[in-house]
Amino acid sequence: MSSVGEAWKCPHCGQRILRSAVICPACQRRLRFDAAAQAHSATAANSPLHIEGTIHHPPAEKAWEYSVIVQVRDAEGAVLARHVVGVGAIEPGDTRTFTLQVEMRAPEESARAAVASRPPAVERAKPTSTLPPKQPTPAKS
Ligand SMILES: [Zn+2]
Repeated sequence: MSSVGEAWKCPHCGQRILRSAVICPACQRRLRFDAAAQAHSATAANSPLHIEGTIHHPPAEKAWEYSVIVQVRDAEGAVLARHVVGVGAIEPGDTRTFTLQVEMRAPEESARAAVASRPPAVERAKPTSTLPPKQPTPAKS
């Protein structure tokens, strides 16, 4: 069993990824086929942070070089990771789109526990109305 947050290298592309990943977030190739993996992939990944931006390089400029740096810090500001994930050049008039996405998911064990702790009869119809019960109209006498 892997511990929460444990990392390893994707056997396909060599990127450092989570041991619990069913599909490599870098190369999108499937890593496991067992039942636990299927249950895990059924639980939707949460994406609490997704940023995308496009840089248009003016046609009148010369080519520019760029470095894409991603940094992760904890609550105290200590740098947990800092990586240059890509470098290159933008030709005049060309564009580059940069996307940063943070995927979050409960670890496998708790995902399974959540499934197991679900009430067995979820389909059972229950009143969802929040309207107060009808007040009897006061009878005039
Ligand atoms: Zn990979």
